[in-house]
Amino acid sequence: MLNGFIQASYFAVAVVFILGLKAMSSPVTARKGIVWAGWAMVAATLVTLQTPGMQNYGLMIVAIVAGGGVAWWSGKMVKMTDMPQMVAVYNGMGGGAAAAIAALEFARGGIHSPVVTTLAVLGALIGSVAFSGSCVAYAKLQGIMKKAYRLPQQNKVNLGLAAATVLVGLVIIASGAPSGAIIVIFFVLALALGVVLTSPIGGADMPVVISLLNAFTGLAVGLEGYVLGNPALIVAGIVVGASGTLLTQLMAKAMNRPISNIIFTPLTGAAAGGEGEAIEGSMREFSALDAASVMRYASKVIIVPGYGMAVAGAQHKVWEMAQLLEEGGVEVVFAIHPVAGRMPGHMNVLLAEAGVPYDKIFDLEEINADFAQADVALVIGANDVVNPVARTDKTSPIYGMPILNVDYAHNVIVVKRGKGAGYSGIENALFYKDNCRMLYGSAQQAIAEVITHVKALES
Ligand code: NDP
Repeated sequence: MLNGFIQASYFAVAVVFILGLKAMSSPVTARKGIVWAGWAMVAATLVTLQTPGMQNYGLMIVAIVAGGGVAWWSGKMVKMTDMPQMVAVYNGMGGGAAAAIAALEFARGGIHSPVVTTLAVLGALIGSVAFSGSCVAYAKLQGIMKKAYRLPQQNKVNLGLAAATVLVGLVIIASGAPSGAIIVIFFVLALALGVVLTSPIGGADMPVVISLLNAFTGLAVGLEGYVLGNPALIVAGIVVGASGTLLTQLMAKAMNRPISNIIFTPLTGAAAGGEGEAIEGSMREFSALDAASVMRYASKVIIVPGYGMAVAGAQHKVWEMAQLLEEGGVEVVFAIHPVAGRMPGHMNVLLAEAGVPYDKIFDLEEINADFAQADVALVIGANDVVNPVARTDKTSPIYGMPILNVDYAHNVIVVKRGKGAGYSGIENALFYKDNCRMLYGSAQQAIAEVITHVKALES
């Protein structure tokens, strides 16, 4: 009876996870989806505590309170710009937890079927790679690990280590009751594999790697859910694995790099020590008054936000300026590149927070053809995602990445603090174009000045 109730509850929880994820696919319902999935997780935890034969309640409650407390505190404190690091940490925790479940089951001899042992080994391998890989991703995004480390014969090392890990995994499956030493060797090899796979990857490829590791974590959790006979864990893991895989594919497409190429091919260009082709010419400065005048008398302005807008927290000022321009009869829309900022959906979240209506926000494919008809493209703290060398310079690390075609607009105004490069570390040919002007300053302050001048022009 109790078992039936537990299984039915897991099924209901799994359904809510799926509905929550579906709701997260639109900015309008995303908040609701997160809340649903959160409550489903609470329900799954409570139901699990009812499992017959469960012991160590005290330890579990201490772990839940400590983990929940840290998550609550870090969720409240984290800056929007540090969110990718946080995603990397949480992702690593999921993979690590899946691997820990397998380690425990091996150590206590809790698995008695070869099929389940195989799934546990697979989950442990993938979970360990996701854990150590996510730690490296965190260190890179946090600036603790400043460069990409490539070993000589990197791909052979990767292959050798992967083969050795699989071999020890096969020994575990064959033995059924592995010794402690074999289990330790297996996990050391799997963790090392995660490190050597992620360490050489750098620069603009890191978001794709985090998304891929997220898919790994989902898969590992799903496999360990099977080992524990927990349907909610299986469904949650499969859903995370599938959505992570889809997001990875979409991001790799947005950067125009096959996933295999991201993982196994050394970066060229700045991240690997090169700079791409030299760019000739000079940048021309614009004042806030000039920018206000050009935009106030334009018919159409397309605003392109990037990482600098997030750093400056300028989204509220940007929306205030857009509304002022609209009151003056200017059509204003926003164009978002899929990898603008430092995490997928970064700019959408900021603009939504500022109150920009969703029907004014357009993705790259939707808006790229419109730049040619725009009087002004206003680039606010974006750099790599509007760099035209991605179309032309084969030696550039961002070559082939689809960009927002801001240079096709009649006038381009770029708001940034100085001559700082973007995430990929390379020069931007856009800034040297004849139709481009630089409005130097931190985004919030620069846009506040533009607002003052637009108001003055109105009066
Ligand atoms: P970039 O990182 O290319 O450029 C940001 C620009 O903002 C810099 O050139 C900087 O110039 C300027 N800036 C910084 N602070 C301020 C400020 N306070 N006010 C105004 N400007 C400022 O950003 P993009 O959004 O164009 O591109 C994102 C990059 O990050 C891509 O290369 C992408 O691959 C990568 N990435 C994306 C992730 C994602 O999932 N979205 C995750 C991780 C990386 P200056 O110093 O002169 O002000």
